[in-house]
Amino acid sequence: MTAGPTHEKIDPVRFIGNYSSGKMGFSIAEALVAQGAQVILIAGPVNLQTTHPHIRRIDVVSAEEMNSAAQKHFPAVNGAIMCAAVADYAPVNESQQKLKRSNETLTLELKPNPDIAAGLGKIKQPGQLLVGFALETNNEQQNAFAKLQKKNLDFIVLNSLNDPGAGFQTDTNKISIINRDNKTINFELKSKTLVAIDIVEQIILAMGL
Ligand code: C5P
Repeated sequence: MTAGPTHEKIDPVRFIGNYSSGKMGFSIAEALVAQGAQVILIAGPVNLQTTHPHIRRIDVVSAEEMNSAAQKHFPAVNGAIMCAAVADYAPVNESQQKLKRSNETLTLELKPNPDIAAGLGKIKQPGQLLVGFALETNNEQQNAFAKLQKKNLDFIVLNSLNDPGAGFQTDTNKISIINRDNKTINFELKSKTLVAIDIVEQIILAMGL
């Protein structure tokens, strides 16, 4: 599993990040171990604890680090759930000194980060399950299905930012799950703990367990 945001360093005291809390990913990890799974949880910088002995937590900061950990562990697992809100871009140069303030405009050059989910989609073997997330504001269904195809996912969990109570930093979420046949299951607004149980149920079904 990947969970949380990534931070891309600008200088020793600044970074590019996002508001992902990691709550959804950590809830899924808990729901998976409750069903007997062993979980490798690759977590970006979050304020969350994990105590279950069957959750092996690997803390990372940047998308590059998250990608290396995901690439390293994917070949030996039954599936991967890509719940992290990975920063799309990282600074081309990380300054070793704190950038000084001036009255001139400042241009930060950015390079695209690796798409971790798509990278795993390329090396996925028969029998391995790959699940992604999509956070959409418009043409939600079509955009989410296009992402499923592009990243070679088995199913995608769609969070709509149009739904009050769904998305970043909330304790609740309202999801739809779209599979490779473009079939959609819609779920009610629930706590992230209960949403995680729904997702794990679909994982178990998809793996034929
Ligand atoms: O393309 P988009 O960012 O909307 O895709 C979201 C899905 O892809 C999520 O499952 C997210 O964890 C994953 N992703 C990733 N690496 C990226 C960007 C997104 O694994 N660089």
